Amino acid sequence: MEISLCKRFLVVFGATTLLAQPVDWNKAGPEAVGHFMELLRIDTTNPPGNETKAAKYLQSILEKEGIPCKLLAFDPDRANLVARLKGNGSKRPILVMGHTDVVGVQKEKWTFDPFIPTRKDGFIYARGAVDDKDNVTAGLMLMILLKRLNVKLDRDVIFLAEAGEESSTRFGIDFLVREHWSEIEAEYALAEGGVTITRDGKVRYVGIGTTEKVVRIMRLIARGEAGHGSRPTPDNPVLRLTTAVTKVGTWRPPMRLNDTTRAYFERLATISPPEAARRYNHITAAVEKYFSEHELHHDSLLRTTIVPTILKAGFRSNVIPSEAEATLDVRTLPDEDVPAFYAEMRRIIGDPKVELIPPVRPGRPVSRPSRLDTEMFRALEHTQRRMFPGAITLPSMSTGATDLAQLRAKGVEAYGFGPMVEERDTHGAHGDDERIAESSIPKLVEFLWHTVLEVAATR
Ligand SMILES: [Zn+2]
Repeated sequence: MEISLCKRFLVVFGATTLLAQPVDWNKAGPEAVGHFMELLRIDTTNPPGNETKAAKYLQSILEKEGIPCKLLAFDPDRANLVARLKGNGSKRPILVMGHTDVVGVQKEKWTFDPFIPTRKDGFIYARGAVDDKDNVTAGLMLMILLKRLNVKLDRDVIFLAEAGEESSTRFGIDFLVREHWSEIEAEYALAEGGVTITRDGKVRYVGIGTTEKVVRIMRLIARGEAGHGSRPTPDNPVLRLTTAVTKVGTWRPPMRLNDTTRAYFERLATISPPEAARRYNHITAAVEKYFSEHELHHDSLLRTTIVPTILKAGFRSNVIPSEAEATLDVRTLPDEDVPAFYAEMRRIIGDPKVELIPPVRPGRPVSRPSRLDTEMFRALEHTQRRMFPGAITLPSMSTGATDLAQLRAKGVEAYGFGPMVEERDTHGAHGDDERIAESSIPKLVEFLWHTVLEVAATR
C-alpha cells in the first residue's frame, strides 16, 4: 500500500515539475513545422544521399542557438551531425536520433513534387514526411527548446542526424559506432521505429519499438546434370529447387513470444473487442490460423518467417539447366538460434543436392529486446498518459530493420517512437504520396520533450 501511494505521488510530482517548464507550444509548433518543410525541400535521396546538405542546414540552426555541434563524415557528401547539451554527469547520456536520407521515388506516380512539400487537407506531402525527417525535426526542436529554456540536466542530451540509414549504414551508424562511439555513447536512445496509431483522429495506442527481427537474405542452389529437354532426368535442378522452396516456404516454424510480443498482445487485448481480445490472450493453433488469414502482421510476429522472393533457372526451353537458384527473405526472431535454425531448414528440405547459402553480408547485428522496466520506458508511458489519456502504450517488435539494432547491440536501451498516423493510411514510409498530418509534427516534438525532460532534467 505504502509503495503504491509513493509511486502515485512521484508520478504526480513529476508531471507538476514538467509542467513548470514554460514551452509556448503556440510558437514552438509552427517553428517545428517550418524546419520540417525546409528539411523536406532538401533532396537526400539515397543513393547518392547527399546528406551533408541536410546536416549543414541543421548545423546552421543549432549554431544560431549556441548549441555545440559537429559534422562527422566517412564520405564528405554524406555527413552525420552530432550536437550535445551537457548535463551535470550524474546520469549517463540520452541519444535522440533521426536519419536525414530518404528512399528514392517514382516521380510519375506522385501527385505532387516529392521534394516540394505540399500542404493539402491538413496533410504535408513529401518524401521523408514520415521516414524520417519528422524525427529529425523533433530532435532538432528538442535541442533548441532545452537550450532556450536553459533546462538543467542530469545527463547529456545528444542529438544525432545520421546518414545512410536506408541500406548504406557504412556512412552512418556503422561508421559512428566504430569510429566515434564516444560521441554517441548513451544509456538510452530514442529514434524511429514506433508509431502512434489513431482511429478517426483519436489516438488508440502509442507503439514503442523495443526490438526488431533480423533480416537474413539466403539462397538455395540446386545442382544436377544438364541435359536435353526431351529426356526427363531424376536430378533436374528445376524440380529439386521448386520442391525445396515449397517445403521451406510452407513450413511454419514453432511459434515463440518474447517479452515484447507477449506484452504487445496482452495490452492490445485491453483495447480490443471481446472476440479479438480472446484471440490475443490465448494464441491457440486455431488463432494462429486466423492470423495467417486475417491479420498478417500478427502472424509474422509469432515466428521466424521464410518468404521465397526470387527464382532463377534455365535459359532455353529445351535445355535442362545444371543449376537453379532461389532467394529467400528470412526474418529471424531476435533470440533465434541461427545455426540450429539453418540445420532445421536443411532437414525440412531433405535433399543433399540443394545447398543452403547463408547471407553473404552480415547485416544488422542481433541484440536482445530493450527492457520494459527502465526509467525511459516508464517515461514514455507517462508521456502517453499525459498527452493521450485513454490510449495505451504498446511495446512493439518491428518486422523491418532500423539503426536502433546497432545501438542495442552496444548495450543501449533503445526505443522507437513515431508520429500520429491514421490506422488505415496507405501513404506511409517508402510509399507514393508519402504524407503526414501537419498536426503530428508539433505533437511529436511535445512527446519527445516531455519524455526527455522526465528522464534528463534536474529536479
Ligand atoms: Zn527510416
